[in-house]
This record gives sequence, structure tokens and C-alpha cells, in this order.
Amino acid sequence: MFLFRMLGTAAGGGVPQWNCACPLCTLSRSSPHLNPPRLQLQAIVSGDGEGWFLLNASPDLRAQIESNPELQPTPERGRRNTPIRGIVLTSADLDQVLGVLLLREFQPLPLYATALVRKTLEANSFFRMMHRVPDQLTWVEITPGQPFALGDSGIQCTPIPLEGSLPFYARDLDTGEHGQASIGLLLEAPASPESKARRIAYTPAVPEITDELRAIYSSCTDIFVDGTFWSDAELSNTHTGTPLARAIGHVPLSGDDGTIALLRAVHLPRKIFVHINNTNPILDLRSPERCAVVEAGWHIANDGWQLD
Ligand SMILES: [Zn+2]
Repeated sequence: MFLFRMLGTAAGGGVPQWNCACPLCTLSRSSPHLNPPRLQLQAIVSGDGEGWFLLNASPDLRAQIESNPELQPTPERGRRNTPIRGIVLTSADLDQVLGVLLLREFQPLPLYATALVRKTLEANSFFRMMHRVPDQLTWVEITPGQPFALGDSGIQCTPIPLEGSLPFYARDLDTGEHGQASIGLLLEAPASPESKARRIAYTPAVPEITDELRAIYSSCTDIFVDGTFWSDAELSNTHTGTPLARAIGHVPLSGDDGTIALLRAVHLPRKIFVHINNTNPILDLRSPERCAVVEAGWHIANDGWQLD
């Protein structure tokens, strides 16, 4: 069995973003049917429907747990329990790790991360709250290219090395080693009576579409890809003084050197954009940009979207 669900599909800040009055955030507040609100990025995966693994840990995690009964504790299992079996981190970005701190109630949890991401989080004093009792957090170091089992879920996970540096708050810790600061995840599950074999790439931050990455995508059954920005200058056009998309590690969707063009030859039943920034015009259900994405054979995940 392989269950995969998106509980949040927005980039950092969500849709709408708290301090943003751009046309898209304003549309989401005034006409949510035209630009549905989105929580910050969160995916969950399960091999049996009983235990779940979090792919990163969103700042919106508490709300995401409370709106998904599968993630909630059950009284039959005692006063303290959780079906959450562990967390896999793809970077040390605050948008991907803040939710770990929300799960700090002395609850034992495995945390899968590269050595550099582990070092970054352990250097932050907030994370000492995750080590107040001996078995609270169990670090599992993962290495790009080396498969590991997601607990006893039957799902195999392989970190995909990506370019990328540590976030601003931890720049002085960066070693520059390829694939340590930012990874994608390749998730594989064999066929079962309930579902066919799956091979899924989960890459919410793609700084460059290399031949290696394109080859991985081509070998998959489904791919979840960085849909942060439509164009390189989108952020700077909306908010003066902000960087270009590529400068902060996101290939934009449009243009001859954009994601849609570069992955046109990757033919899969499902190519799905996730991690959509509140400046991205594909959020507006009426926009020509959204039509172009759909016509190019892509799906745009919304909160609650799941593989079936
Ligand atoms: Zn906005």
C-alpha cells in the first residue's frame, strides 16, 4: 500500500500571506473560490494507513494534524500516542523545520536528515527542547543516493542530492558539500493487492533541472515538483528589493529555460506542482498562466490532494 497526501501546498507564508496585500492575496481573502487559501507545504506518506511519516514539518502542522483524523492520537492507545512515525527533512529552511518544534511534547520521534541539516538544527538552542528526555528525538542521518527504509512502512526512500545552501540564519555553518543542504526524495513502494507499484519524486525546491534530475523524473510514476514561481522576476515585481527566483533556488515555471519547457519530454500520467508562492499567477483559477500549466499536462496540487 502507498498513501500520499498533501496537507499544505503553499510556499513559505501560505496563501494569503499575513502581511501581503498583493492582488493574489487580496483575491484569496475576498474571493476564496477564485484563489483558495493554502497552508504551508506539508506532505504525508504511509505504507499501511496506520502509521504516517511527515515529509518536512510545516509551521501550520498543528492545524494540519487537527484537520486530518489519521494523524491524531486515539484514546484506545492511552493518554499519549500518535500515528506519526517520523519526519524526513529535505532542508533546514524554517518553513520545513518549524513544525518539528511544535511536536516537542516529550513524544519519541525519529527525525531523518542529512548530517549538515542535523548539525544546523542542533546548533540552534530552540532544538534543545527536543532533547529533554532520552528517547525524545532519534536522529537518523541520511546520505544522498543511499536508500533507507521509512520505518516498517515498506516504503523505501532515497535522498536526491540537489544544489543549495543553508538558509540565511545558518549561512556560517555551510560546508558547500553537494546534496547536504537541500535534497529531494525518491519514494518507492512495491505493488500490493491494493495498489500498483509506485516510484515518486518529491522535490519541492528545485534550483536547477540537471540531466540527472530529468533522468530520475523520467523513471518515476509520479513527480511532485517545485512550483514556487511562474517567472524569475515575479517576486521582485511584486515587492521591490526582493531577489530573483533563481537566486533563491527555484527554477521558474515559464520561459524556454523554465520547468515546463525543460520537462516537456518527461511523459508521466501525473506531473504535479507543489510549493506555490502567493505571488504565482497560477493560483488564480481564471488566469492564462494556470491554463498554460494545465494544457502542458501538469496538475496543480491543492491542500488535501492525494494520490489514489
Ligand atoms: Zn501576496
